[in-house]
Amino acid sequence: MKWKTTSMQNKVIGIFGGTFDPVHLGHLHVALSVCNTLKLSEVRLIPSAQPLLRDAPSATAEQRLAMVKLAIAPHERLIADDREIRRGGSSYMVDTLTEIRAEVGENVPLCCMLSADQFSQFEQWKDWQHILDLAHLVVTTRAGYKFSYSRAVKKLVKQHQCKDFQLLHQSSAGLILFQSLIPLQISGTQIRALIQQGRYDEAKTFLPPLVWEYIQETKLYR
Ligand code: ATP
Repeated sequence: MKWKTTSMQNKVIGIFGGTFDPVHLGHLHVALSVCNTLKLSEVRLIPSAQPLLRDAPSATAEQRLAMVKLAIAPHERLIADDREIRRGGSSYMVDTLTEIRAEVGENVPLCCMLSADQFSQFEQWKDWQHILDLAHLVVTTRAGYKFSYSRAVKKLVKQHQCKDFQLLHQSSAGLILFQSLIPLQISGTQIRALIQQGRYDEAKTFLPPLVWEYIQETKLYR
């Protein structure tokens, strides 16, 4: 095993990648719930430059990053991390985790957060079998999605699953924790569609107020 057992760490970092087109209350709910429940010291929201396994975003990378910065402003332990946008090109989580691991050293636990819909595609992530050498995985529930995964991923779960979040603080990588969240049926797709249809009052209810102001000012998604 390549990951290191650590003494109880003060710093435990959550890594939350996404398209954030736009960042919405569903994302904040995931970031804040996981941060509080698992007692993480911070969660980094990392907008992808060019996301894989989905359509190209509607907003530019700079606009998506600007919205993430506005969304996290009131929340002390949430951080906007622009490394994938600075790196450019296709955004692979394994590259992002490799960079962060090199920066924080081998002792700091990293928790890569992904929801049930993402986990069902986990086998399509670049170097997916290497990810647990770099970080833990925290797999969260998402309204409307069931956990489904291939035989290979099932085997990985069997080998690495842990049920006690405190274990994530005691080693720097290598565990998989499933975390149930109160379901919030919100998606970027739904918000973009509502705005395009002129249903602004409905779209607004799914967004942090500053993000809604930004969308109005820039006339995004119309
Ligand atoms: P889109 O509809 O444009 O595909 P999205 O709302 O799914 O966007 P992403 O930026 O693709 O947002 O998501 C980043 C991560 O957040 C993913 O792991 C996704 O599953 C998760 N996520 C997004 N919305 C929710 C939600 N309402 N509840 C739980 N997880 C969510």
